[in-house]
Amino acid sequence: MTIERIHNWINGQACEATDDSWIKNINPATGEVINLLPRSDEQDAFDAVAAAHDCYLSGGQGNAGAAGLNASQRCDLLMAVADAMDERLEELALAESLDSGKPFLNALNIDVPRSIENLRFYAKAAAAQTTPAVAGENSINYVLRQPLGAVSLITPWNFPLHLLTWKLGPALAMGNSVIAKPSEITPTTASMLGQLFAEVKAPDGLFNVVHGFGHEIGDALVRHPHVKAVSFTGGTATGKTIATVAAPLLKKTSFELGGKNPSIVFADCNLEQSIASVARAAFFNSGQVCLCGSRVLVAAEIYDDFVDALVEQALLYRDRIGPLVSAEHREKVMSYIELAKEEGGEIVCGGQAYGDPNGAFFEPTVITGLSHDCRTVQEEIFGPVVTVHPFDDDEHALELANDTEFGLASSVFTSNLQRAHHFAEHIQSGMVWVNDWNLRDLRVPFGGMKQSGVGREGGDYSFKFFSQDRNVCVRYNYE
Ligand code: NAD
Repeated sequence: MTIERIHNWINGQACEATDDSWIKNINPATGEVINLLPRSDEQDAFDAVAAAHDCYLSGGQGNAGAAGLNASQRCDLLMAVADAMDERLEELALAESLDSGKPFLNALNIDVPRSIENLRFYAKAAAAQTTPAVAGENSINYVLRQPLGAVSLITPWNFPLHLLTWKLGPALAMGNSVIAKPSEITPTTASMLGQLFAEVKAPDGLFNVVHGFGHEIGDALVRHPHVKAVSFTGGTATGKTIATVAAPLLKKTSFELGGKNPSIVFADCNLEQSIASVARAAFFNSGQVCLCGSRVLVAAEIYDDFVDALVEQALLYRDRIGPLVSAEHREKVMSYIELAKEEGGEIVCGGQAYGDPNGAFFEPTVITGLSHDCRTVQEEIFGPVVTVHPFDDDEHALELANDTEFGLASSVFTSNLQRAHHFAEHIQSGMVWVNDWNLRDLRVPFGGMKQSGVGREGGDYSFKFFSQDRNVCVRYNYE
């Protein structure tokens, strides 16, 4: 049987790695090889940067963006790609599902429609941008918001197409050209997107995709002098490696990193709704969500009942989730179960592999009895594993919520408005949901504090990252 090969997209062309080296892309549900992706090297990465840079230069480097596309042409292009994705919705969803293991219906109804919406949202929002003008004495200042040039987008495996388009939409809308480096674990939809850009006749070099191992080509995509900015989503350790390369070169960077997010449940909440939200935050996408609520803090008076209800939900999620993204990742998640036992935790449910022995399925897991300062509670596990902790009062809840090096997201479940606002103000996380989890609005800031990242994405925050504002001051009178 011939195994299909997917390709890099450089300068509008599908191409192989220069030395014809390939990586196997494994289906985590079955252990079978899905396809082969190029194992690119530094030269391939440089070729992609050169294509993006040339495309940008051909636009004249002024207000016109890469390839000379003006703002409305850029928006039209994003809309055309979004329409083309819509036409391939099922194919994209199938590829995303096979690569990542997420259920096909989730990819079909959530991941791919949201990816399409990302492009449409940024195309429309870009057209609505304004910049300030300030009247001074005998002078007027106005602001030109201009593209940066070639930018690298480095993305992880948990929402491959969604997180790529989340960066791609604003990067292109602002007139940049792009080099995308998708995760080597989930490469297929990025290549399909490269194909769609070619089909809608996007200018060559506007959107380039280079596949390969992050530790082999990531450095080149950050270091190269023609790369003007790096937008990274992934693990905190990788983010720090990229920062050590980018900082001395004074590159513009954005870091969306890991999390260990609290779900805080008060006795006065709507219990039924809250349990459903806490379970979704814990187990959706097999817990492989940067925002996932992996530390569940529960008011002592409802603790026992809440744990029982969460266990019931965990059993339901067993049939709703896919495998973890790889056998290696399952090993990592399982090692935390062993660690939790050593640290004195009780595995109330889950904690085992299940399903196809060649797949990487792992049961939704609820752990109690752990001290809050132990490694299982402090480190990002990135699987369907939650620890549950009772708290005595508001002060104790806040102390536990903030007792982490991370600061990405949090959820507070309460019907007390005063308490909700107090927590919203004092929890150390870039995003706070009150009475929900992961309720999205693409206009609002997305990002973390502490070890969860630097910078914000979303709406105008993304436009500002992918552009530079130039002030022009005009003196109109010498009196
Ligand atoms: P990862 O850090 O291993 O990889 C992310 C990307 O970086 C991949 O494309 C990888 O090839 C590349 N990479 C690896 N080494 C590199 C290097 N030295 N230089 C440049 N690029 C390099 O992360 P992952 O395992 O793919 O994803 C899981 C992590 O991502 C979790 O920690 C999760 O919390 C985080 N994440 C964060 C957000 C957010 O918005 N904050 C969203 C999704 C995932």
